[in-house]
Amino acid sequence: MNHWYAITAVLFANIALVVVRAPHGHRSRGIAVVKSRKGKQETVLLTLAWIAFFLPLFWVFSPVFAFADYQLRTIPYAAGIMCYAFGLWLFHRSHADLGTNWSISLELRENHSLVTRGVYGWVRHPMYLALFVYSAGQTLVLPNYLAGPCYAAAMVLIIGCRVGPEERMMREEFGAAYEAYAKRTKRLLPGIW
Ligand code: SAH
Repeated sequence: MNHWYAITAVLFANIALVVVRAPHGHRSRGIAVVKSRKGKQETVLLTLAWIAFFLPLFWVFSPVFAFADYQLRTIPYAAGIMCYAFGLWLFHRSHADLGTNWSISLELRENHSLVTRGVYGWVRHPMYLALFVYSAGQTLVLPNYLAGPCYAAAMVLIIGCRVGPEERMMREEFGAAYEAYAKRTKRLLPGIW
């Protein structure tokens, strides 16, 4: 398959991710943060996420990663498009359900409430699941050994480092309500983990 298929998909998906998040990012700026756990680790992880997000765009717009290109094939490409689509849909739904409680980092906002409905009734971290599925899509769609999997590698690291501290923060804030929520839901994969 021609690389233009990959370029089109990567550009469309990256823009879609930004468009889905933009209104929530904008709205959350107007709501005061009342508790923050944004330490050094968080700053490093967020920086890594931004770098991993922009690397595929370097592949699109410059030849720096061309040495690691491989031939694009139809079946992984089609599977990647499906992952992109599901990841973006779940990213949208989790933002919609989390509403004003969303933060890019480990923070609690004014009048923060515990969300347990919608996609938060399926798993406790649907937004992280969405980003992971999206990043798996990018790995399949982008035919380059470095630029393809870099976002997925960053997501595995970020999700792995974040889930524990985030759940500790939520437990401290919401106590028994969070315990009950954690008892009836899994972290990322319904019925599994
Ligand atoms: N881990 C969640 C949310 C990611 S956004 C997910 O993957 O869907 C990160 C912020 O969301 C955290 O700082 C926390 O303040 C908030 N948060 C996480 N789970 C929440 C929940 N069930 N209800 C309300 N806020 C939540």
